[in-house]
Amino acid sequence: MRILVVEDEIDLQESLAQALREDGYAVDTADNGEDGLYKAKAWEYDAIILDWMLPKLNGVELLRRLRREKKTPVMLLTAKDAVTDRVTGLDEGADDYLIKPFSLNELLARVRSIIRRSTGNASNRITIGTVEIDLASKTVKESGNPVELTAREYAMLELLAVHAGKLVSRTMIYNHIFDEQDDTLSNLVDVHISHLRKKLGKDLIETRRGQGYILHV
Ligand code: CA
Repeated sequence: MRILVVEDEIDLQESLAQALREDGYAVDTADNGEDGLYKAKAWEYDAIILDWMLPKLNGVELLRRLRREKKTPVMLLTAKDAVTDRVTGLDEGADDYLIKPFSLNELLARVRSIIRRSTGNASNRITIGTVEIDLASKTVKESGNPVELTAREYAMLELLAVHAGKLVSRTMIYNHIFDEQDDTLSNLVDVHISHLRKKLGKDLIETRRGQGYILHV
């Protein structure tokens, strides 16, 4: 999953990006509203964490313009706690909001929640055959036994699992698994898939030549 953090307070931006990366997300950042809107339109993010008060273009105006084109889930961060401000944010299309200061754990839980809602998964657990994926703890079991996956392997499995039964193209994988800091050779996707097959069973993921991959339900 790939997340955009639009926040002009650099300390907060960096600590958010670090916490999200440690939680397994690919993370891009922007430190003003114009740059944020450009990236939000250019890439398919799984969620956007958006500060309200931003230079060049404020968060609510960014949201208003983004919503003309895209439904990307948005978590609005605000120092404002007046009811009218929260209503404005939600009315403009924010999926959730947090009032500063907030706990990182709460932010991570709420980000999981807005992503889960946007993908139509009601639960944090996805079961595919004998493989069970816990999206909250980011752990995987095969026939009840814990399986150790690298952060990238997990991210790829999670992406395939939330779209189980549907074709996931290589472009989708690149857009959702890697961020702008990654300098990755194209064949790495195949390497991760091959590792997942070794760890979870060779029939779990089907390759469609020239199209992508499917995880069958
Ligand atoms: Ca700000």
